[in-house]
Amino acid sequence: MNRKINLLELSTQEFVKFLNQNHIRKFYFVYNKKLKKIISSHKLLNPIADFINNDKRDFNFHEGMFFQITKKYDTLQSAFIHRTNRGQAAGGVRFWAYNNVEDFFRDGLRLSKGMTHKNALAGLWWGGGKGVMAQNTNFNIKDPEIRNSIYQEYGEFITSLNGCYVTAEDVGTNVNDMANIFSKTRFTTCIPFNIGGSGNPSIPTARGVVAGMKAALNFLSGDTLKGKTVAIQGTGNVGTPLIKYLFDEKVKKIIACDIFESNVKKLKSEFRNKNLEVHLVDKNDTSILKVDCDILAPCATGAILNSKTIPEIKAKIICGAANNQLEDPIKHDLEIFKRKIIYVPDFLTNRMGIVNCANEQYGYVNDDQFIERHLEQNWNHSIYQTTLKVLSESKKTGKPTGNVAVHLADKLSKENHPIFGHRGEKIIESLIINKWHEKI
Ligand code: NAD
Repeated sequence: MNRKINLLELSTQEFVKFLNQNHIRKFYFVYNKKLKKIISSHKLLNPIADFINNDKRDFNFHEGMFFQITKKYDTLQSAFIHRTNRGQAAGGVRFWAYNNVEDFFRDGLRLSKGMTHKNALAGLWWGGGKGVMAQNTNFNIKDPEIRNSIYQEYGEFITSLNGCYVTAEDVGTNVNDMANIFSKTRFTTCIPFNIGGSGNPSIPTARGVVAGMKAALNFLSGDTLKGKTVAIQGTGNVGTPLIKYLFDEKVKKIIACDIFESNVKKLKSEFRNKNLEVHLVDKNDTSILKVDCDILAPCATGAILNSKTIPEIKAKIICGAANNQLEDPIKHDLEIFKRKIIYVPDFLTNRMGIVNCANEQYGYVNDDQFIERHLEQNWNHSIYQTTLKVLSESKKTGKPTGNVAVHLADKLSKENHPIFGHRGEKIIESLIINKWHEKI
């Protein structure tokens, strides 16, 4: 009976039901070096292992993937561990409503690989990982009691993984959720400021975007931001400080847009003496991408750079904070390159979120050099230097910038941590030997 079910097509709730019927509360998929393939904890789940093994798009020899169904509120929770040579797999936990099991797995595979690249390119001694949780529509996830319980169980789950994955905040997860995770595990960053966390990273993120823009301009024409026109999509936590920093750099004009009237009004008042043009737009309005400007900064949502928008872009440089700006990371990277527009890859320029919280456990000092050096021009791994490196290599090899950045990040991600070596892999091996999935 079960064999006939296509597990990947099930909704995440149907999948949870299927797991419950088969008394599976915890399960895993790990890469077996001898067999050179992903193996699963339960035979019944082999079709998912086969799907992962055969996938060319999102699977990239991920070291391990661990899952649980929460004891209360039947929520599917996970930790995708891509690569841990540089250290424990680090990346935030996303709480999202997925269409089906395949979407859930694809998101975890893709996002965890992305974190490996972001962390390695930033020169952080962290591997790459991501938590993904599927919202269960049978429960009101805004109810504080339900929400606290889901995130506390996630904290317990993270503890059970013995430190191969260190979680953080991501889409759908808030500061209070992080406090709930922290109440059950030490393996987390991005904890609230009032209990020793590093606080909102948006200001350093905006400064990181400015560093990327400066490098791109220097590369393009030996020029600076002075006198330039910049278009910004999205004036939220990052977009707003970005406007301030760009005016500090003496740009000539900023054209910005947002979908919330309150944001637009606030900006008009805050920058009334500056040359800022700010528009209220509909969420499907992409006219900001067509404006005449030197630099386009996507700071709202992902997938904004696609076959429909790319031909209309007038900017010479694209450099912004939004995650996953390219709708298709290969096809649209190439389309932009062919248009001779410089694209500074998002995971290079928006790294300051993870940089800001990555080393929380080491305490804080004024003008912390472990944060500031990412924003300076001379450190080898700084946003500025890495952008220059990627743009030069792209020019030399005739390859699009996203492709070059991924290649560079991939190489760096295979360097072993100078003290701990490839310890994440050892932790995963221990979990399997100790039959992690049977410990409920
Ligand atoms: P935010 O939610 O505070 O701001 C996004 C803004 O974009 C909001 O004001 C929203 O109203 C606006 N917006 C949404 N859709 C829009 C549309 N179609 N057109 C115009 N405006 C639109 O988020 P944020 O923290 O400023 O982050 C911006 C982007 O950068 C996100 O993609 C985020 O994932 C990414 N990012 C942020 C950080 C950080 O430190 N905050 C770090 C890394 C990446």
